[in-house]
Amino acid sequence: MTDATPVIEITNLHKAYGALEVIKGVDLTAHRGDVVSLIGSSGSGKSTILRCANLLEDSQQGDIVFKGEPVKWRGTGLNRHPADAKQVLRIRTNLSMVFQQFNLWAHLTILQNVMEAPVTVLGRDRAEVEAAARKYLDKVGIGDKCDVYPAQLSGGQQQRAAIARALAMEPEALLFDEPTSALDPELEQEVVRVIKDLAAEGRTMMIVTHDMKMAADVSDHTVFLHQGLIEEQGAPKDLFGAPKSDRLRQFLSSTM
Ligand code: ADP
Ligand code: MG
Repeated sequence: MTDATPVIEITNLHKAYGALEVIKGVDLTAHRGDVVSLIGSSGSGKSTILRCANLLEDSQQGDIVFKGEPVKWRGTGLNRHPADAKQVLRIRTNLSMVFQQFNLWAHLTILQNVMEAPVTVLGRDRAEVEAAARKYLDKVGIGDKCDVYPAQLSGGQQQRAAIARALAMEPEALLFDEPTSALDPELEQEVVRVIKDLAAEGRTMMIVTHDMKMAADVSDHTVFLHQGLIEEQGAPKDLFGAPKSDRLRQFLSSTM
């Protein structure tokens, strides 16, 4: 792959839950090093797009291409599913997701949480994974929390552990779904800081967020969704500074 090949390229994505069509033809591309933020009202389809991108959800139409490799499908419409389980695993582990609710395993220590998938899913060497896990926990500022359980950490620390866990997969890109929405305002900033550091490192990221300041600060490109379609997109300075559509203006005035 050359740097001109997008890490992820989605074309004409359609997704329905039964009869309810929630994504109605969305294109979305992230090149290496891009930070793309997705904004929009609750229910506009932001989470669904991320979940379709890393194949946690099926989609009925459209192409999803990971590093030049198109997802192989079998069937059509509501019966369309990925055809190649190995490809699904490769794409899912390379588009590592960070969720609003952290989703740490309560019965594992923080270090075990970070090590679990690289060891059991990817079959990597345990000692190497442990060294990398400690490095990533240091990087997010909780290197001293390796041996405690999630319940003993604040929400901000748990989310940083979840980011370390995503990094430990050594993914091509990170997908964040409202990473700060479950946090008290004073804890949000410690997670925002980590995300900013990752952006400064040149990580490829897609970030669903309600935090317009973070979106404006970290993104190269911002996408505003409305009812399953892209209503407006562009550089954050244009979207936030000079929104063109009434819907985006209305949305921004309701959130800021
Ligand atoms: P957002 O993340 O922007 O708030 P979502 O992607 O979660 O929006 O949801 C988009 C639409 O899909 C909403 O109407 C939501 O109710 C619906 N939806 C999401 N998940 C499911 C599901 N598992 N089953 C049925 N409908 C769903
Ligand atoms: Mg959502």
